[in-house]
Amino acid sequence: MDAGKEEQWRSHGRLVLIPLPFQGHINPMLQLGSILHSKGFAITVLHTAFNPPISSDYPEFRFVSTPDNLSNQVISTDSLLYFISLINVKCRVPFQECLARMVEQGREEKEEIACVIYDECMHFSEAVAEHVKLPSIVLRTTSASTYISRNAIVRLEAEGFLTSQGSTSQELVPGLHPLRFKDLPVSKIGIPEIFLRFITDINKTRTSSSAVIWNTNDVLELPTLQEIQKQCHVGIFPIGPLHGVAPASSSSLIKEDKSCITWLNKQVENSVVYVSLGSLASIDKEELVEMAWGLANSNQPFLWVIRPGSVDDLEWNKLLAQGFTEAVGENGCIVEWTPQKEVLAHGAVGGFWTHCGWNSTLESISEGVPMICKPCFGDQRVNARYVSQVWKIGLHLENICDRGDIEKTIKRLMVDEEGKEMRQRAKYLKERVELSVRGGYLNELIELIRSF
Ligand code: UDP
Repeated sequence: MDAGKEEQWRSHGRLVLIPLPFQGHINPMLQLGSILHSKGFAITVLHTAFNPPISSDYPEFRFVSTPDNLSNQVISTDSLLYFISLINVKCRVPFQECLARMVEQGREEKEEIACVIYDECMHFSEAVAEHVKLPSIVLRTTSASTYISRNAIVRLEAEGFLTSQGSTSQELVPGLHPLRFKDLPVSKIGIPEIFLRFITDINKTRTSSSAVIWNTNDVLELPTLQEIQKQCHVGIFPIGPLHGVAPASSSSLIKEDKSCITWLNKQVENSVVYVSLGSLASIDKEELVEMAWGLANSNQPFLWVIRPGSVDDLEWNKLLAQGFTEAVGENGCIVEWTPQKEVLAHGAVGGFWTHCGWNSTLESISEGVPMICKPCFGDQRVNARYVSQVWKIGLHLENICDRGDIEKTIKRLMVDEEGKEMRQRAKYLKERVELSVRGGYLNELIELIRSF
């Protein structure tokens, strides 16, 4: 580290980042860390021993692992909320002790901690920061529309409205246009207690946090953000998409298979459908087979991520062996994990079949790539609705996974006039988002942190 930078960091101070240990949350937190590091802050990532970030990807950060007794957990999408509430119980004491030691050490080294920035799901961190007398800031990693729709769920449930309507209804939710009841981030008719507690915990306006950083921006969600700001007593800083501001670097927990870039280099511009369902969603073997044949029958080249454990049949390879490989030949490439941002930025990629995780949605928007939306759970349905109905840059694949529907949808996006118009809108949105990223929120945020 050169002396000038060391001096600058000492004057700006150190930030402690607390990510939720899942890929879709680690990514935006480390991107935020990179941005703030480039503005002269020193960064410590305080993380669980479970699913730790790869420290070697960020040699200029300090990584501190905290014992959490979580390491033997097997996480499925059904147990996700239970797991998040468990983290919040188990991590509080060890994180507090660790942070207290860091504060001490900072004083001894004359490098004070300026503040703690924590993922909204790690909400225990607010009390921990308060305990050691540090200011805290919450990072929201979902869309602002998801926040609003989660609050609506609490209200609708209290009014007894949601249960009677059911979560499969096509009717629009009053005040949440264009969301329908079936788009709300609930999975079943009636809402389990743990879900309501989760929403209340992560959505409540924090009592002592000093600000909210949001991985979204005004171009995408201005009216919603304005609505939220009216109810929020601290400043909201929508400085996303964070990956668009952060210096490029990977925070993948699974090794990226770069051979897919070599394969993409051989494809025609805008011809490839990129297929990925993110880091948590899974499919059953029937869905796998329908997806495979829908892709094959569309005759479009495709790059498909099949993550280890993402199909409920470990022998999924055998299912695809039945004529599929011969039918596809060189037209398809299947890998376990890609460098996704690089893939989406590649000129050969013309469409993204996505589960509409918020990071994937932002990454696609940032590259002007139109989408086929196949949401699986939670906020993905909200995002899919915005992609198809508000920004009009994608098609929502809503029915049960059927190879005929898939083939038709791929052709609509990749070949038909309708798809060309979506691509144009996506390029235009990309430009507007790019311009907005240069806005003043980031500078205001830095001023705020420096004022602590
Ligand atoms: N991702 C990746 N390679 C892959 C698939 C996904 O790097 O093959 C990254 C993707 O770029 C995104 C993250 O994993 O940043 C997934 O986050 P998202 O919010 O889209 O979905 P989640 O995994 O949380 O459901």
